[in-house]
Amino acid sequence: MFKFIRIREVGLRDGLQLSRTRISYETKIKWIKRQCEAGFREMEVTSFVPPSLLPQFSDAQKVVDEANKIEDLIPSVLVPNLKGGLNALKSHSKKVLFVISASEQHNLSNVNCDIKQSLLMFNDLIKERKNSDLDKKVKISGAIATSFGCSIQGHVKEKDVLDIADKLIDIGADEINIADTVGYANPNQVSNLFKKLIKLSDKTPFGAHFHDTRGMGLTNVKSALDEGVTLFDASLGGLGGCPFAPGASGNIATEDCAYMIEAMGYDTGIDLNKLISLRKSLSKWMTEDTLLGNLSNSGLAKNFKLNH
Ligand code: ZN
Repeated sequence: MFKFIRIREVGLRDGLQLSRTRISYETKIKWIKRQCEAGFREMEVTSFVPPSLLPQFSDAQKVVDEANKIEDLIPSVLVPNLKGGLNALKSHSKKVLFVISASEQHNLSNVNCDIKQSLLMFNDLIKERKNSDLDKKVKISGAIATSFGCSIQGHVKEKDVLDIADKLIDIGADEINIADTVGYANPNQVSNLFKKLIKLSDKTPFGAHFHDTRGMGLTNVKSALDEGVTLFDASLGGLGGCPFAPGASGNIATEDCAYMIEAMGYDTGIDLNKLISLRKSLSKWMTEDTLLGNLSNSGLAKNFKLNH
């Protein structure tokens, strides 16, 4: 038996949030279904934000409705505030990621309030879930953005990330997702932070969300794996750039991440051939964006074997 590592596809949210191409609702559903067929059990499918700000997510409810019909899939959604969170609860989303930045300045610019206010909103969201009897049906995850550095504030203290994670767990988060939103993390920093995070709770799972902005995405995955992290976010074809560095690469590419994790002797449950074929389709759909990643150009190594 190989240890199971879950990869959560975030291309439909993180990727489409920053891409130039607008794909249709029908194409989104095709993408979700095909990625499920390739073995994915969790995908961030949309975001509950005002359509005037991000029109690419104006079909959020429809996407959630359709994704909820797929057996074995946990479609998750990202929300920036209480209003988005309440909409996500109403929409019957199975998992909601509530985003808070560890950098005060990033939180102000990203979600328009300070960290204290974001934490109060998170508290209200957890309360609302309880009141509406959704406790067992909806998982709520606290996603900590800019956990390793911030393009506005610069340095982010480890202690600030740990404090926020501790508070989120205390309030009732089912999971904590640690994000290197702007690609500042290095492998030693990742080891050091996860060593401390994991001591905060033995019940709460920690996920990791890395960007490859400075070429350290997969090395950071390896560091987090070594600390026991079993949930990783990635975006097919590395879709989604960096809002603060035009032209720079964004999320780690799902196919490269899955390949590395399988090659290292873990089981991801992913069928890489089906995933590469989907990635080919994605490059046709995303007419105005360039996809990244290596595996799609090189193919699988001759001696590569999947562990499932
Ligand atoms: Zn991201």
